[in-house]
Amino acid sequence: MRDVIVLGSTGSIGRQTLSVCRNLGYRVTAIAAGSNVELMEQQIREFRPLIAAVADESKAADLKTRVADTGTKVLSGENGICEAAVCRYGDIVLSAIVGIAGLRPTAEAIKSKKDIALANKETLVTAGHIIMPMAKEYGVKILPVDSEHSAVFQSLTGNKNNKIKSIILTASGGPFFGYSKEQLRNVTVSQALKHPSWSMGAKITIDSATMMNKGLEIIEAAHLFDVDVDDIQVVIHRESILHSAAEYEDNSIIGQMGVPDMRTAIQYAFTYPKRCASEVKRLNFAELGKMTFYAPNDSVFPAMSLCREAFKRGGNAPAVLNGANEAAVGLFLNGKIGFTDITKAVKDTLYNINFKSADTIEAVLEADKEARSYVSDLG
Ligand code: NDP
Repeated sequence: MRDVIVLGSTGSIGRQTLSVCRNLGYRVTAIAAGSNVELMEQQIREFRPLIAAVADESKAADLKTRVADTGTKVLSGENGICEAAVCRYGDIVLSAIVGIAGLRPTAEAIKSKKDIALANKETLVTAGHIIMPMAKEYGVKILPVDSEHSAVFQSLTGNKNNKIKSIILTASGGPFFGYSKEQLRNVTVSQALKHPSWSMGAKITIDSATMMNKGLEIIEAAHLFDVDVDDIQVVIHRESILHSAAEYEDNSIIGQMGVPDMRTAIQYAFTYPKRCASEVKRLNFAELGKMTFYAPNDSVFPAMSLCREAFKRGGNAPAVLNGANEAAVGLFLNGKIGFTDITKAVKDTLYNINFKSADTIEAVLEADKEARSYVSDLG
């Protein structure tokens, strides 16, 4: 039995997390989300958490009225989300708010000594240099939920004393795999939102289409597994069956496979190091037939190189890159800029904002703000 706090409960990962909790019979002691109070009401009625926090202050009164009969305490704003994150009856926090909005609540949860099941990659992308030492200081486990990182984590389990040569992250290649630069120029929002193998929130789906998602994952992996970014390879694997792997000194590669379903990674983060029965479908190799692998095309999809560069620069650079990307994806989704303008905006922002150190959460959030304001001038 675990007491789980779910940050981002109304999102794609949040909803799948609640399904895992339902299956395992776990208690959900607090939930938090942005503004979807209709779904929060349903979640409150099913799971009866002690706290429900909604970021949008204007929605809090509505939520309070909706659940007045339940005994759940309704909080609002960023402080309310942070209070949910540190709810005293919670031993693990599933961090799945989208974007840098997940950073502060995740940091607060670590300081209150709760293990973190981390889906919100932006936390490590922007502030991995602060978060990883903080987790160590407070004796907290960071258990990856991103499927690639969960796969690497599983491939490293039991091999503590063996040196790894490289980490191999697999990428589906997104909806525009094989496109030329010219073809990419005219793609639409609805085409970009059609991911070939995963059903996810809008921001990460666009990040997958630009390959920025894989770039962010390179930074995430470098922090989680303490490896050099140049020792992290990316390979396109259209079927999304091999979720990622670790290559050892003897050239053996150990990977984790299964059907593409995020509930496997969410559940493993909760039950680690044990494995429990799951509702996820079994993989049938004979039915699958084949698995294919290709090299990524960096000249058509330059986002991964930008991410490697931002990580190597350090300081405010990863937060600037991430903030510029979040803002540019927002502009694209609202029809203000074209698809290829997203990565271009990120590059311009990264090269035009002065390098600074960013050793505190506040400095990281400041860098994020600066990058967003730079990009909004481009829109
Ligand atoms: P969604 O867009 O589906 O969900 C986002 C969640 O965050 C919603 O609950 C939303 O609430 C909430 N939210 C948005 N803004 C705020 C805010 N300011 N404060 C509090 N809550 C907020 O995203 P996903 O579930 O797809 O992704 C969540 C995170 O997990 C991302 O960081 C993503 O990169 C990562 N991830 C996702 C995967 C996936 O398969 N979806 C795979 C691997 C990683 P509301 O609905 O009310 O707006």
